[in-house]
Amino acid sequence: MLDKLNQLCEDALAELKSQDKQDKIDTQTALDEWYGRVIGRKGAVTLLLRRVGELPREERPAFGRRANEAKQALEAAYEARAQEIKAAELACSLREGAIDVTMPGRPLPMGRLHPSTQVLRNIYDIFAQMGFQVYHSPEVETDEYNFQWLNMPPHHPARDMWDTFYTTQEGIILRTHTSPGQIRAMREFCPEPIRLILPGMCYRYEQISARSEIQFNQVEGLAVGRHVTLTDLKGTMIEFTRRLYGAERVMRFRSSHFPFTEPSVEVDMDCILCQGEGCPVCKYTGWLEIAGAGMVHPVVLRNGGYDPDEYSGFAFGMGPERIAMQVYSITDIRQFWANDLRFLEQF
Ligand SMILES: [Zn+2]
Repeated sequence: MLDKLNQLCEDALAELKSQDKQDKIDTQTALDEWYGRVIGRKGAVTLLLRRVGELPREERPAFGRRANEAKQALEAAYEARAQEIKAAELACSLREGAIDVTMPGRPLPMGRLHPSTQVLRNIYDIFAQMGFQVYHSPEVETDEYNFQWLNMPPHHPARDMWDTFYTTQEGIILRTHTSPGQIRAMREFCPEPIRLILPGMCYRYEQISARSEIQFNQVEGLAVGRHVTLTDLKGTMIEFTRRLYGAERVMRFRSSHFPFTEPSVEVDMDCILCQGEGCPVCKYTGWLEIAGAGMVHPVVLRNGGYDPDEYSGFAFGMGPERIAMQVYSITDIRQFWANDLRFLEQF
């Protein structure tokens, strides 16, 4: 029986150490199975020890000693193997979960600002440096603000230039220009002096073409105070244009007509593409239109709360999309709101 015990013990230890691929004990599950088979409650060694009573009395102590040694040896072997398996599993998981920090990262898709927004921000920057604040006014307006208080009573022929969208509520329309903000600002700040730009979306009921859209941005400028003159307007427009397009720009002011300014001017600069030589962008005139402008009409000043005998002011309006078209040589204004990434990703 002692021989049998030694044999069992030897076999079990050999099995544990075996490097043979087939029956290698290299997982905790396999190890537990081995434990159960050898020294578990129904393990071979355990069963053998129960038969100690079959031995002659004098052989029992020796067998008992040997049995304890064997059991301890097997337990120790089990523990050692368990540690090895644990270490191997840890090493394996470290190897599999390893991150190669030298691998180049995947590029993040980056958003960007719409070209109109970029131009608007440039305009804000330049006017902010000149002391103009940004003033926002509603895109849905009343007929009074959009037309009447800007010196365009009902049936005024100038209204033909600003066909708009009407809502089902009478007298409520989408603004055709940012000029109604002039009245709102004047009424808010009167009698303080004013130096503002009024940016925002405008709407006109127009045939959509390469040159006209039904929605577009406008930036209006307004300065009101004592002794504001046409020279101030000229200086502001020249300074703005040269900061945006370069110090070498040549300007020209043509007389024009708007119902809400008197006198009115169109502000042109020499074409940035052909330097005034003439090209398709400037329609071979050598000039590009920058803005419409003028001295605020006395009627408009009065509607804003200012006494035109004491106060004067100038106003101007420009289109960021038109500016972007000139800067980037965009030939079709419909691109701006067509939502085409091939276009938008170029800016
Ligand atoms: Zn040109």
